[in-house]
Amino acid sequence: MNNSDFDKNHIWHPYTSMTNPLPSYEVIKAKGCTLSLASGEQVIDGMSSWWAVIHGYNHPALNQALTEQTDKFAHVMFGGLTHQPAINLCQKLIELTPSSLSQVFLADSGSVAVEVAIKMSIQYWHAKGRANKSKLLTVRNGYHGDTFAAMSVCDPVNGMHQLFEQVLMKNHFAPAPSPAFGETWSDSHLDALEQYFVDYSDQIAAFIIEPIVQGAGGMRMYHPEFLSHCARLCKQHQVLLIADEIATGFGRTGRLFACQWADVEPDILCLGKAITGGYMSLAATLCSEDVAKTISQGEAGCFMHGPTFMGNPLACAVANASLDLLQQSDWQQQVSSIEQQFNTELMPLADHPRVADTRCLGAIGVVEAKQAVNMARIQQRFVELGVWIRPFGKLIYLMPPYVIDQAELSKLIKAIATVLNEDDCFLSE
Ligand SMILES: *Cc1c(COP(=O)(O)O)cnc(C)c1O
Repeated sequence: MNNSDFDKNHIWHPYTSMTNPLPSYEVIKAKGCTLSLASGEQVIDGMSSWWAVIHGYNHPALNQALTEQTDKFAHVMFGGLTHQPAINLCQKLIELTPSSLSQVFLADSGSVAVEVAIKMSIQYWHAKGRANKSKLLTVRNGYHGDTFAAMSVCDPVNGMHQLFEQVLMKNHFAPAPSPAFGETWSDSHLDALEQYFVDYSDQIAAFIIEPIVQGAGGMRMYHPEFLSHCARLCKQHQVLLIADEIATGFGRTGRLFACQWADVEPDILCLGKAITGGYMSLAATLCSEDVAKTISQGEAGCFMHGPTFMGNPLACAVANASLDLLQQSDWQQQVSSIEQQFNTELMPLADHPRVADTRCLGAIGVVEAKQAVNMARIQQRFVELGVWIRPFGKLIYLMPPYVIDQAELSKLIKAIATVLNEDDCFLSE
């Protein structure tokens, strides 16, 4: 069986079918912003492998950090042992993130970081003698991961909640954040949300939200004022604020953390995706001293979580190198040039008859079509056009590595403009 047939018949890919699989393209090499495919094609990556590869592929400094740590030790258990890569990383994370955060839990993926945040918030109120505060409040169109607690705060419609109804935590969903980023603020956008706090805060442990940009739940960008009022309502109603910056963290929106658009200081912060520059699976959940101390002084006497590969030294070492690179680079300038190019080249696609909306913020550019894409066809066309873009539903979006150059980004945007003219790349209504 050749690679392509074996893959198709035996390997699950994210959200794919085993009976009607879409083709997967085999990568044999990656460097900078270019993926080399086994078929001989070279494609410019517009996805940063899902928000992660901010410095580009095969980066000498990141490669070196990994090999140096491999020569010392690749892994040790984190129970009872510690090491320099973890200590350096946690120091950096505390320095870089909002000052409310001073304790770090190293998790192994974004979904786990969210599970950890949710467990922390429930344990916190339990320790305070308020065990009835055990539900979550969130907003519609969110995405927080694929594990059960994370799923229970994803958008109930695109998260397919009815499938898992018997086992999912029943949480509260306020309307999606509004108005959009850049639109005019008015306090009326808070009415519905405020009512949820008033009605349910005695059962709610935490409010969880993706600051400023909702990612996989719809690629929506909303007004910073909405976020700052969320933080105010949390304080007022004794609800912990969990900021899920797994997608937005490390500069993607034009601020190092999207919370900084509204000067919000969350009680708990989830980080992941770009944390290792896309080299390894690693995530982190940071919390305030109050959260950490309260949990530790509660009935359990400790926080009830501890993955086998917690604090993996290779992942921490490459994360340290990635954060050093980020801090030494002119990422603000890179992200702002990408945003300018989105403004001049991608935003005008709004006039195309097949397009419902275009929007961009920082190094995130979105074309929302009127119809859903035909995935198999559009993927094939993008590869033929020399780009790697992976749309979902009606959303065709770009979040390139920060190091992408103007010509590469133009090629990505032109490829989108091209497929918009091709009927067979879209499903009919
Ligand atoms: C991707 C993502 C997650 C889940 O992270 P995984 O590493 O895929 O488990 C959680 N929250 C947000 C906002 C994300 O974008």
